[in-house]
Amino acid sequence: MQHDGILTVTKIFEFAYAHRLPSYAGKCVHPHGHTGRLEVEVAGLAGGSPYPGIVVDFHDLKAMLAPILDEVDHRCLDDVINAPAWADWAAAHLPRVRSETGEEVFAATAENMVLWVRHRLLTLYPGLDVRRLRWWESGTSYAEWRLA
Ligand SMILES: [Zn+2]
Repeated sequence: MQHDGILTVTKIFEFAYAHRLPSYAGKCVHPHGHTGRLEVEVAGLAGGSPYPGIVVDFHDLKAMLAPILDEVDHRCLDDVINAPAWADWAAAHLPRVRSETGEEVFAATAENMVLWVRHRLLTLYPGLDVRRLRWWESGTSYAEWRLA
């Protein structure tokens, strides 16, 4: 069926995390916490939905995001973004910062975390048509990745 524009569904997740920004000239250099929110907007799944009139079942989307949420909820994201499991990806896609001890590391900024979520989704679900991701760091601040 033809529509003007594109039909998508969005699921919103809430979680808690800690981080700090190494060598940052501001208060975010100190360890602190956030109630974060992740918005995931998708336009479909390879093979389509088995039910007419559903892009992707919200319950299925929740189940798909569960392992990714597990990796960030109540975690220190400084450890998550620098984990060996995706070091090759991070080296190719994220800027490095020099920590106070002189070590080159990746900072768990909202911008880097939204790119990390996209990487995790692409790795786990290559057939998921992700159109937009928003990583909310507070009620008024988010970083967004969207399909160009
Ligand atoms: Zn922060």
